Amino acid sequence: MKNQTITLGDFELTAISDGTYVADGGAFFGVVPKVMWEKKVKADQFNRITVSCNSVLVRTGKQNVLIETGIGNKLEEKRKKIFETQEKLLENLRATGVSPEEIDIVINSHLHFDHCGWNTVYQNGAAMATFPRAKYYAPEGEWKHGSLQLERDRVSYLSPNYDPLIQSGQMQLIDGNAEIAPGISVEVWPGHTRNMWGVFIRSGGKTACYISDLIPTTWHLDATWVMAYDLFPLETIANRKRYYSRAIPERWLTIFTHDPDVPWAYVERTDNKISYKAP
Ligand SMILES: [Zn+2]
Repeated sequence: MKNQTITLGDFELTAISDGTYVADGGAFFGVVPKVMWEKKVKADQFNRITVSCNSVLVRTGKQNVLIETGIGNKLEEKRKKIFETQEKLLENLRATGVSPEEIDIVINSHLHFDHCGWNTVYQNGAAMATFPRAKYYAPEGEWKHGSLQLERDRVSYLSPNYDPLIQSGQMQLIDGNAEIAPGISVEVWPGHTRNMWGVFIRSGGKTACYISDLIPTTWHLDATWVMAYDLFPLETIANRKRYYSRAIPERWLTIFTHDPDVPWAYVERTDNKISYKAP
């Protein structure tokens, strides 16, 4: 997906992709029968679908804020082949005219490997900050959960993406909701994980929300179309409904973390069906 830019009040938002990767279609749609989800997205001969890792650069006029950092380039070769990763985030960031050195703030909605991969790069075998001047933020409960390395989801938590930054003091872990910078705040939206954040961007009376894996693509707008990855599927359903009850009347621009075609849209309800309209 090419970079796309939109104005939100005094802020400029640019959707920047780390490129696409392939994932099992069943994992993305949980108990939804393939005959139904296949109408929205075609699977290949291995039942895989192609999704994107969408980050957002927010230029507030005072600061450059990067929300999410994709898969990155540190996966072992075998997993790079499995996911067919593209590692495009830095090149797409450069196309915006902003260099990694000019990023002031990095926010990770949660610490799954496909959301914080470019936090660090290997230099002489050590994982170093990709954005040397940035202050990084992530949910504290995510780090605690990842550190447990539970058999259910330990493959999703790769400590070189965050532990070196925590040790150096460059990453701050936050428990709960917080304002990160003027107009940029985080709110806990459980379901995909217990502590995942939605990232709110507010300027000039307008709101955008990076709701991350609570609603990963426009294919997942139906509250019951929950991914098999989600640890708390009933909470995903309840929180999607709660999200719509605010996002629709207040006209939030919803940002989709994994949609390969639609980085953002306004969510709408017609005849009790949730749909979307591109801005
Ligand atoms: Zn995730």
